[in-house]
This record gives sequence, C-alpha cells and structure tokens, in this order.
Amino acid sequence: MEKKRSKNMKSTFDKWMAGFQDTRKGTIIGIAFLLLVFVIVSVVVRRVSQSNAMLMMNGAPTPVRAFAGTFSSIANLSLILMVVFYGKPGFIAAIALLFIQFPGVIAGLLVQHNYTNISGVFTNIFAIIVIILIYLNNERSKKYQEKIHTQAVTDALTGLPNRFASLEIMDKLIRQKSRFALVTFNLNNFKSINSTMGMQTGNDVLIEIGSRLARVAEKEISGTQDIVTCQGGDEFSLVVRDYKSEQQLMNTIDCYKKAIEEKITLDGCDYFLTASAGYAEYPEDATDSNTIMSDANIAMLSVKRNLASERICRYTKELSGYERSLEIERKIRHALQNDTLFFHLQPQYDVSHKLIGFEALARMRDEEGKFVSPGDFIPVAESAGLIDEVDMCVFRKSAEFFGQLLRKKPMDITLSVNASVKHLMKNDFLETVQEVLKTSGVPANQLEIEITESIMIDSVEKALQCINELKKMGIKIAIDDFGTGYSSLSYLNTFPADKLKIDKSFIDKINLNDSSKQYVAAIVMIGHVMNFKVISEGVEKLDQLETLRNIGCDYIQGFIWGRPMSADDAEKLTLEQAS
Ligand code: C2E
Ligand code: MG
Ligand code: MG
Repeated sequence: MEKKRSKNMKSTFDKWMAGFQDTRKGTIIGIAFLLLVFVIVSVVVRRVSQSNAMLMMNGAPTPVRAFAGTFSSIANLSLILMVVFYGKPGFIAAIALLFIQFPGVIAGLLVQHNYTNISGVFTNIFAIIVIILIYLNNERSKKYQEKIHTQAVTDALTGLPNRFASLEIMDKLIRQKSRFALVTFNLNNFKSINSTMGMQTGNDVLIEIGSRLARVAEKEISGTQDIVTCQGGDEFSLVVRDYKSEQQLMNTIDCYKKAIEEKITLDGCDYFLTASAGYAEYPEDATDSNTIMSDANIAMLSVKRNLASERICRYTKELSGYERSLEIERKIRHALQNDTLFFHLQPQYDVSHKLIGFEALARMRDEEGKFVSPGDFIPVAESAGLIDEVDMCVFRKSAEFFGQLLRKKPMDITLSVNASVKHLMKNDFLETVQEVLKTSGVPANQLEIEITESIMIDSVEKALQCINELKKMGIKIAIDDFGTGYSSLSYLNTFPADKLKIDKSFIDKINLNDSSKQYVAAIVMIGHVMNFKVISEGVEKLDQLETLRNIGCDYIQGFIWGRPMSADDAEKLTLEQAS
C-alpha cells in the first residue's frame, strides 16, 4: 500500500504541475536581460580601465580608470542576481560567463605581460566562489521548501494531491483562462465499511480507490487530461480539461465512476462500492476556485440526497438555494437542541415618546458564533415545520424576562410576540400559551400576539377559533405587516384584532409623494373606524415621525426611537422610563 501511495502523488500532481510552462518563458527573458546588462557593463569596464581621461571631482582631477571597480561590481551583481532569481539555468549562465573571461585575462598576464588586470583575476575567482556558495545554499532551501509544499498538498492516506492542491491547480487554470470542470465523487455508504470491517479496512479501500483513479488519469484512459485529488475522507475530486463537449466530459466521469465501482478484494473479502458525482464548470458556473469547489459539492450532495434525477449532476443555481436552506435548517435544529436561540426586544412608543411595550424578536447565532438574520431563518423554520418551536422558545424566554421585570417594577406595558399562522393551527397552541403565562407570571392583558395579515387571506377557521379563545383570555391581537397582503375590508371588519401594524415599506415611502402619505392616512383611518389602535413599523426619520403624528397614528416602532436590544438593555430602558 505504501508504494501505491507515493506513486499516486508522483504520477499525478507533479506531472500536471510540470505541464504548466508559464515560468520557463520568464526565466529565459530574465537571464537574457541580466546577460545583456553584464555584457554592456563589461564593455564599459574595459573601456574605462584603458582610458587616460580625467574627471574633475570636487575641484580635483580624478582618473576615469578609478571607476572601473564600481562598474565591475555592477557586472558581478548581475551574475549574482541571475543565480538568486533563476536557479540552475541562472547559475550555469553565470559560471559560463565567468569562465569565458578567464583565457583572455590569463593570456594578457602571461603573453602580453599586462599585469594591470591582475586584480580582475582575483575578482573573478571570488565571484565564482560566491556564486557557487549562493547556488548551493539556494538549492538546499529550495529542496526543503519543496518538501514542505509536497506535504502541504498531499493527502496523507492516499498519497494523492489534496484539497489545497486542487485549489492550486484550478487557480493556475483560471489564470490561464483555460476551461475545466471540477468533478466531486463521494462514496455511498462508506461509513458502513468502517463500522463493520474496521478503520484499517476502510483506509485500505480508500487507498485502493485512490490508486485506481490515479491510474486512469496517468494512462489517460478517459481520453481527456485529468488530475485526481483526494478531498479528505471518502471524497475524491477530478479536474478535467481539454474536453470538447459535455458528452465527452460525461464519458470521462463515467470512466472514473466505473473504476470506483469495480469489485475491490481485500484480505479475501469482496467490496462493491458506488459513488455519487456532481460537477461544476469554469467559467460557466463560477470564476473562482473556492466557489467552483463548493458548487461541485452542492451538485454531488443533490445526487446523494436523491434530489437530482441524474446519476451525475451538474451544478445549478436552484441547487444552491436548496442547499442554503438545508444548511440554515441544520443551524436552527442545532440551536433548538442546544437551547441557544435567544431574543431581542424592540421598544414601542406612543407619539409622545412614552414607552408602551416591546416586541420580542427571535435571534440566532450558528456554531461559529455568526449571526443569522431572522429574515433568513424564519422562512426556513416555517417551511421545515420548525416555526412553532422557534416561536415557543422566543415566547417562553421573553415572557420569563418580562414577568420578572413586571415583578421588579409593575408597569402598564405590553410584550408583543410573533406567532406564525402554522403555529396557531397547532392543537396545543392555547394550552402552551396558558402554561407560559402561568409560569412567567405575565398577566394576559399585558401580552400581545402578532399574526401576519396572511391569516385573513387564508381564512383558516381553526386559526380564527383560536384567536377568539386568546381574546377571551384577555390577550391582545395585532395584525402584523398590514398592507402587504390582499385582505378584504369586509374581512377586516369582522376580525377580532386590537391593533394594526403598518408595514415598514409604506413608512419608507410616506413622504415621497402625497398619494403615499394619503394611503397611510387611509389605513390609519380604517383602523380607527374598526376600533383598532394603529402602530407604524420601521420609522427611521424625523419627517416620517412628524407625518405619522399629523395623520393620527397612535404608536411608533422604529430605529428612530429604539433598535432591537438585549434583555438587559430593555430592563434599563424600562426602569429609566419608570423613574
Ligand atoms: P416583524 O415582526 O415585522 O418585525 C419587525 C422587523 O423590522 C424586525 O426585523 C425589526 O428589527 C425591523 N425593524 C424595526 N424597526 C426598524 C427600522 O426602523 N428600520 C429597519 N430597517 N428595520 C426595522 P427582524 O428582527 O429582522 O425580524 C424580521 C421578521 O422576522 C419579523 O418581522 C417577523 O416577521 C419575523 N420574526 C422575528 N422573530 C420572530 C419570532 O419569534 N417568530 C416568528 N414567527 N417570526 C419572527
Ligand atoms: Mg412582528
Ligand atoms: Mg412587521
């Protein structure tokens, strides 16, 4: 197995990377340039050293010959730069140049008895020694760097290039603007091999698969130019280039899939594995290596979860949206299990800026502590059937806090909580509300439940019954986001609410033109006719506040007077108001 591993690495990554010729041209140009500098400066040295001319420096005559040493150093410096920047080719060129000069200098000394160049001979010898030392030192550190790099881009188990190597390869191809596809394979049910046959067998299976895939790539059996990498665990990737059509790409993927799915025999046991494959293409699907990798992964996962109808799936934007929802769903479940969901409270005021209550808003952080917006996770919680748990968690926690606050300082303020229509429809909704009121000690008439306008459109009888029961208990009802749905006025007339919450979108536009203002004024009027109080959401600016006061809106909720805040801050604010 050990041999197979090292061979995997040699036969794929090294060969492929060696195929990128983008540095060779640069080396030739660089050496040629430094050679030219060397030749020009050497000619200058010769001329200067033979010249009898004088230069006036600081009023004193100085022979031009005195500058020969300076020019000679510049010439040698260009040779040193050659070795430092261009490794072996630079070293060979520099040494060759220095040796070429020798016969001329020696002949000058011995035949013409011209001893003026004797210092040049020594300079040459020193230059040769320095250049050899620099080269040897460079080579040593290069080997060390290569070793570290190889370790960094190699999967320790299979010996294949790893995830970083595939990113490196893709980055190179992207720089060359060369089309390619990244294919991700994931072994189906691989865990069962580990759990039934042990980790060692699992590792041997992975090594065998890695070496099969590397062989297909090395012998170019697929007909395209591919490199195999191991992404870690039971996941392998393939960078495919030089394919002429989608069909050719499919044939290539099939070729590797077959290699994975052929019988594996280890210690007399036969194993039959299958793999799910997904792919994304550059430049069509994404233009950076990280996104391409995650897109190919998303496509592969859709095959694994039986979402895609094909055995090999190409990435699409729809898959990405679905994957994102799944990820958020996972985060919600994690937060619910670990009881890490929390709430913020946004203050609500009357138009004279007197506090009338707070709206409890759900907040969530993921495992890494990153904040997830309610605008993202509430819709997912609704579609995943988790909204009742989210609502209840926020309700319980905020009611507990509010009950304690009221015990510290009895005040006529209300706690508003959001309830989804789906939650309201649950059989045990009323019981749980009663139970929370009892344990938290919040009086029923100081609790308000916000329900979106959609409840009236769906006209769900069961939800209406529930609302009537809540009203009987003394709980207030607010219609949230009013104006965004299409509820009919006749329905509104019979709806047992206490409050209308005008949606932020109307407040944003309220002062844009007169008709927008009249529209909000009409909602306020209708609300009052129906005997509802009216609150405006999302009030941010002073002119919005002024207009709302003028048209008779009762209450204000918005950043202008208070953003959603932690329970501690809400407590401070309440106690300040009370004093
Ligand atoms: P919502 O119930 O209409 O809550 C008001 C939203 O407007 C909150 O956003 C609040 O932060 C935001 N907001 C208030 N004033 C301003 C303002 O002046 N400017 C701006 N730009 N925004 C303002 P948030 O907290 O992101 O909540 C979004 C929505 O998520 C809520 O809209 C509500 O529909 C839903 N939601 C939040 N918590 C819960 C919950 O516990 N249960 C349920 N079912 N839904 C919830
Ligand atoms: Mg609300
Ligand atoms: Mg709202």
